Amino acid sequence: MTIVAVSKQQSADSIALAYAAGIRSFGENYLQEALPKIDRLTDLAIDWHFIGAIQSNKTKVIAERFAWVHTVDRSRIAERLNERRPEWAPPLNVLIQVNLAAEPQKGGVAEDEIGPLAEVIESLPKLLLRGLMTLPPADQPVAEKKVHFSAMRDLLRQLHDRNPAADTLSMGMSSDFELAVACGSNMIRIGTALFGPRPVR
Ligand SMILES: *Cc1c(COP(=O)(O)O)cnc(C)c1O
Repeated sequence: MTIVAVSKQQSADSIALAYAAGIRSFGENYLQEALPKIDRLTDLAIDWHFIGAIQSNKTKVIAERFAWVHTVDRSRIAERLNERRPEWAPPLNVLIQVNLAAEPQKGGVAEDEIGPLAEVIESLPKLLLRGLMTLPPADQPVAEKKVHFSAMRDLLRQLHDRNPAADTLSMGMSSDFELAVACGSNMIRIGTALFGPRPVR
């Protein structure tokens, strides 16, 4: 189980405190906000996770500064991340974002697009396909969410049967991580429940 502490809108000092308490993985979704914090905390052995929407003109910075990307949902982005990953760096860990509820305002592929995108990622030497990520509808009733989460577990299982490196299911946030873990998640993204409410901008 990996806890990714979602540190968006939290200060570098708060991140350093969570690090001192043992957290090693931190998630950010806005580059502009993340980069100064990453620069300030280079002394700490942090695995930075990019969990926001990816604009194609930002792939270079993401490929250079992060260890994981949770939100890959098209082959062009995967190809650009591969091109931009520095030679000296280990392969970038990537997750395919899945949008089972087909919410138009969110990124992510449909179920039948997972296989083709996985094949593209598997062909790219500087990317390592590690699994799937989902961000379910915020207002989903528990019973529906359980169906959604269980479907994700089955999709990861299918992917893992083909590709043993794809062992990670990034699923669950402060409000639903218990259910996500019960349904098979092994990477939870927790902001509020760790840091308290985010400061208003
Ligand atoms: C903000 C965010 C989280 C964490 O949300 P909390 O409810 O504060 O735990 C998790 N995943 C993504 C993609 C986010 O943007």
